[in-house]
Amino acid sequence: ATAARSSLKIGMLPADGIGREVLPAARAAILALGSSVPKPEFIDLMAGFEYFTRSGTALPDETVDALKNECDCALFGAVSSPSKKVIGYSSPIVALRKKLDLYANIRPVKSVSVDPAVNPVVDLVVIRENTECLYVKQETQVVTENGKEARATRLITERASRRIGDMAFRTALTRPRKHVTIIHKSNVLSITDGLFRETVRSVPGLPEVNGRYGDITIAEQLVDSAVYRLFREPEIYDVMVAPNLYGDIISDAAAALVGSLGLVPSVNAGDSFVMGEPVHGSAPDIAGQNIANPLAAMRSAALMLRHLGYGEGADRIENAVDVVIREGKVLTPDLGGKSKTSEVVDEVVKRI
Ligand code: ATP
Ligand code: MG
Repeated sequence: ATAARSSLKIGMLPADGIGREVLPAARAAILALGSSVPKPEFIDLMAGFEYFTRSGTALPDETVDALKNECDCALFGAVSSPSKKVIGYSSPIVALRKKLDLYANIRPVKSVSVDPAVNPVVDLVVIRENTECLYVKQETQVVTENGKEARATRLITERASRRIGDMAFRTALTRPRKHVTIIHKSNVLSITDGLFRETVRSVPGLPEVNGRYGDITIAEQLVDSAVYRLFREPEIYDVMVAPNLYGDIISDAAAALVGSLGLVPSVNAGDSFVMGEPVHGSAPDIAGQNIANPLAAMRSAALMLRHLGYGEGADRIENAVDVVIREGKVLTPDLGGKSKTSEVVDEVVKRI
């Protein structure tokens, strides 16, 4: 809901690598909106692997306190994951999702092309549960007479399933097709996935008439066949809601349908906070060269604004990005272009 704000306080966490090059792009997009949003105030905050190597912590308490007490929302760049385990280091993004209870990862994936033969027509959003499933990371290993035996606990709760289902249905109501597909594997995992599926289905609290709940239609699919159909006929999907691990896989698979990682935005959302984050990582191979694609970060800013109720501002950023992609003249090398990050940013800002 749109609270009447005189200013919009945005925590900025560029973190590592190209995160530092694309977050200024998101900032430029928001600044270009003028009075479509309350006056933005950007609050620069520390986090990341590089900061860890200097300070011994990847996510200082001051950053978490500032996000909780001073900021209305936040934008996160990207964090480098060290290739070997580093003692004392754990990912700040995982910690932030926990500390701010950002229980949903929302990832819209949309193809923009004048020629539908080039790209499949994709316009879907994956809503991934962000707090449980196998990500509770309770693993054990024992040695038996037949060798090692490893186990992991998979947690599915009614509470988490209900709130992610609620997020999915609320999202569906904002979209033209209003169609929700529940992803699960309850033919094998009838207790855990069964609970997820039944809980999500029961969220609208409406009587079902031929798969329709009020304005919303619901389908469900086993995760394996969902991936298959995602590649064969992506146009059938609108909102896909899934437990954590399936959501992770589905959302990367969906991102592959539209080309570069540098195009795909996300938000981490809870009931009281939202944090935009491009889906890509810190891309150490291209960092510091002013060639990172800034569009995922700019779209993440738009998503964050939409989530806060500033749909008009979000539309203006998204439309400008779409126009720049469709024109195809000012694009970074990942999309086959020759332009610099800064040139793409200027082009989008001009369109906004
Ligand atoms: P990390 O450990 O931070 O995830 P990574 O090496 O996995 O780093 P990613 O950021 O996940 O790198 O990117 C994977 C590939 O996609 C890299 O080759 C990278 O250069 C490319 N890539 C990612 N994001 C962008 C972007 N915004 N613009 C251009 N290329 C990108
Ligand atoms: Mg990566």
